[in-house]
Amino acid sequence: MTTPGETAAESSQAIVATRDPIVVLGAGPAGLACAYRILLSNPDQKVVVVDRSSIIGGAGASFKWKGHTLDFGPHAFHTRGSEPEKLVRDLFAAEPGLLIEGRKQVHVYLKGKRFKYPLQITEALLKFNPLLSARIIIEFLITSLFHAAVSIPVENFENWGKKRFGPTLYKMSFGDYTEKVWKTKANKISEKFASEKIQGFSFINLIQKLLRVGGQVTEPYYQTWLYHRYGSGQMYVRLGERIRERGGEILLGTTIHSVNRQGRRVVSITVEKDGAKTEIPCTWLVNTIPLPQFVGTLGGDVPFPVRHAASKLRYISLLLVYLEFPVERVSEDHWFYLLDPRFAFNRVTEQKNLSSDTMEPGKTVLSFELTCRVGDEYWRMTDEELVKLAIKDCQSIHFMCDLIGRITDSKVIRVPNVYEIYFKGFDQHAESVLAYMSEMDNVSSVGRRGLFLQGDQHQAVEMGLEMGDILAQNVPDRLRLDGFMAKYVGYLDSY
Ligand SMILES: Cc1cc2nc3c(=O)[nH]c(=O)nc-3n(C[C@H](O)[C@H](O)[C@H](O)COP(=O)(O)OP(=O)(O)OC[C@H]3O[C@@H](n4cnc5c(N)ncnc54)[C@H](O)[C@@H]3O)c2cc1C
Repeated sequence: MTTPGETAAESSQAIVATRDPIVVLGAGPAGLACAYRILLSNPDQKVVVVDRSSIIGGAGASFKWKGHTLDFGPHAFHTRGSEPEKLVRDLFAAEPGLLIEGRKQVHVYLKGKRFKYPLQITEALLKFNPLLSARIIIEFLITSLFHAAVSIPVENFENWGKKRFGPTLYKMSFGDYTEKVWKTKANKISEKFASEKIQGFSFINLIQKLLRVGGQVTEPYYQTWLYHRYGSGQMYVRLGERIRERGGEILLGTTIHSVNRQGRRVVSITVEKDGAKTEIPCTWLVNTIPLPQFVGTLGGDVPFPVRHAASKLRYISLLLVYLEFPVERVSEDHWFYLLDPRFAFNRVTEQKNLSSDTMEPGKTVLSFELTCRVGDEYWRMTDEELVKLAIKDCQSIHFMCDLIGRITDSKVIRVPNVYEIYFKGFDQHAESVLAYMSEMDNVSSVGRRGLFLQGDQHQAVEMGLEMGDILAQNVPDRLRLDGFMAKYVGYLDSY
């Protein structure tokens, strides 16, 4: 940030005064992509990546369980061209057989039936019982007429959904599921989140198509993917190897004790591994860990409004129950959503359908995702209780109930604070924290965690590469840094 009377160039020259390392907090997709790009473009620059996890790749990592390689829920890398996809392809250019490409095969399970994902209104109306379909259409017409006559502000997710779809369809297709995933009433969730997440499901579109006056075939989200034959995490293992080959250091299993500042500059960070503390000098700090945790490393002199804003940024945690079946396949899907409120779990992934090489021959492992708050009734359940709960859900899935007696093994993983919750006002809280960080001379924050953005791996890598480009210059361009922040803070506003 330039101070009054100082030009951008003068301010920038004050930024990189030494050849100390650039320190990256977090070895997930964003942090690794950033580190790699810096080293690629500026081989003289030292880079140190620090992560508390013992495995590389953040939420995109994989781990071994018996003869299986498992991801943390589904982790297909969406293909949208541009730099992130090119990076992934380049990493395996010499061994093209290692990358698999495909098209998403995803369904939703609702009222005992399977529907294509994202739910399409035509299919829903045809498959629901005729009385329910008639009720949905009548409600939609009444709601539309009412809202055309009376202007009522949309203030939250629930208002947004009911206004758009009518109460019954909203509740069945999004409302109940949203409350199940976020463990929060939908009227506490920002309407900005609804408009981002619920795409491609439009009554107006259907009516336009029926009347032949337009209507697009919408294909929301990204339908094609790349995946490593031996699990999502292999992409990050390879990226880590490339970073190390270029002289970068990656410190895993290492916690960040403190970020040490002199005035507006970060001068070093203190890390801890196996009880031993080390101070790492730092010319620039790239943050990709969650904002509240980052603020916690800064010590007590952070102004109260910033600490308060950070404490208002909330996350939902994830329980993953993996069930092993001695069969080739349970379904054709990569994953399917359990929309009905009677299901405890939100989504089931059959990773074998992304790559059969991740599983022991003759077996398949399905992962069941359940969101919760750290310390709540689900979080406190024993592994045994969670496995029983997953089996209970299987009993209500027509193509799984006969397989329950054949489950050969199970595993439970708890991942705290994994999804950003978009409570009303989340954008102002995130922006307050980011504004405070941008007042520091040599700090940038990127990635899903670093910007409180609910993006995918592609976006995390993209942000990392962009930031890496900027920091690879010996004198980072302040205007580019400001442009980067303006672009991504703009995404927060647009949610
Ligand atoms: C269940 C689930 C399914 C998903 N499915 C897909 C999918 O199919 N396709 C897709 O593209 N994306 C998917 N995503 C999203 C994807 O995982 C994220 O977009 C991506 O991992 C974000 O990368 P990141 O580097 O910003 O953050 P992360 O991957 O979260 O990396 C942050 C890193 O910071 C480290 N860290 C955190 N706190 C500290 C600390 N205090 N000290 C040191 N290190 C710390 C963590 O250990 C982690 O390694 C999914 C996410 C989840 C949770």
